[in-house]
Amino acid sequence: MATALQAVRGMNDVLPDEAPLWQRFEDTARRVFEQYGYRNLRVPLVEPTPLYVRSIGEHTDVVEKEMYTFADRLNGDSLTLRPEATAGIVRAAIEHSLTYERPQRVWTAGPMFRHERPQKGRYRQFHQFDVEALGFPGPDVDAEQIVMLARLWRALGLTGIALSINSIGDADERRAHRAALIEYFEAHNNALDEDAKRRLHANPLRILDSKNPAMQAIVEGAPRLVDRLGAASRAHFDELRALLDEAGVRYTVNPRLVRGLDYYNRTVFEWVTDALGAQGTVAGGGRYDGLFAELGGKPTPACGFAIGVERMVLLLEAQAKRDASAADAYVVHAGATAAPTARRAAEALRDHGANVVVHAGAGNFRAQMKKADASGARFAIIVGDDEAAAGTVAIKPLREGGEQVAVPVADLAARFAALQSR
Ligand code: ATP
Ligand code: MG
Repeated sequence: MATALQAVRGMNDVLPDEAPLWQRFEDTARRVFEQYGYRNLRVPLVEPTPLYVRSIGEHTDVVEKEMYTFADRLNGDSLTLRPEATAGIVRAAIEHSLTYERPQRVWTAGPMFRHERPQKGRYRQFHQFDVEALGFPGPDVDAEQIVMLARLWRALGLTGIALSINSIGDADERRAHRAALIEYFEAHNNALDEDAKRRLHANPLRILDSKNPAMQAIVEGAPRLVDRLGAASRAHFDELRALLDEAGVRYTVNPRLVRGLDYYNRTVFEWVTDALGAQGTVAGGGRYDGLFAELGGKPTPACGFAIGVERMVLLLEAQAKRDASAADAYVVHAGATAAPTARRAAEALRDHGANVVVHAGAGNFRAQMKKADASGARFAIIVGDDEAAAGTVAIKPLREGGEQVAVPVADLAARFAALQSR
């Protein structure tokens, strides 16, 4: 009998049982992007190799060791399976003068290829949804893309995805910072790993992105670009932050945040979950004002991001499992007079169709809150003696963060329903 052939390592089938979560993500993403005026653009899976070397950068992980590059046997051309979509989109935009008359908001989706070590959330063929705003100087469009992602997470019911932002400045600031970095890393040469030593002069910025734990202390102490931004980059970043504040999108400024591809400038951002271990970045992006010119086009400011679909599907899977068994609320009550109020509150919520678990048995407040967290319930209802005396309870969101609110027991069901539909 002939031996059965197997798929290439790190390149997966999506079976019919798994497809519904993929489709849910894809349909929702397309819908949300449309709501913001993004239109579909499709580019080839294979491009000339120099496109990626020039855009992503010669001294990046992707170009140095992750690309599937091969010679076309018929004519000897060097071709590469796309490791990301932005370079191809910019190539297409230049080739077809897409931004000649007006800027363009576009999205694309499909498989990307990187020769990495396969593990959960990291594959050799993986899928991205990729969004690009071409011809916009920002920062309004930078903020809009981030707000759009926050909406997508809400539309998917995903919580616990945290946003980090940073500014990595413009070309001049980056050059000055680069010189400062080389000086700093040279002074600490004996603490550098092999990768870092090799990159020291070629691409010191990439050292900041090192995933080697032994390198973290040295990286922590390095000069920060965010401290050296010029007036224009500083204003861009401040305005971005003001726009995110205005939209109510929470973020952390991480001055160490750099991205794995060389073409970024000014705004960079990442959305990270702690539910997927080391493969926690579910989306990342930023501004790339120099890329059009780098690829032979007219200078055109632009900003974009990519979402990793496999990581989204893993999150949706975990969410589906949790939702199948979790109650809507877990009632925590501590104090002699609290228990009757707790039971009354739970019955009131059940009257309105909620699934509610009331803590039973012993346990101080802290222990009960731990149980509430572990239960997967979306909210804790907290009743103490003080609350009971005042006829109120507190509602605390457990998954998405946010403030605890005190409400009169009489209003609990209505207020709870409002929070649930948020
Ligand atoms: P990581 O730090 O996890 O290697 P990255 O910075 O290389 O990610 P990007 O090039 O910014 O990733 O790609 C955007 C998104 O695509 C990532 O946030 C991730 O969700 C997804 N992604 C990247 N590489 C892979 C891969 N090999 N397998 C699965 N998903 C991936
Ligand atoms: Mg990577």
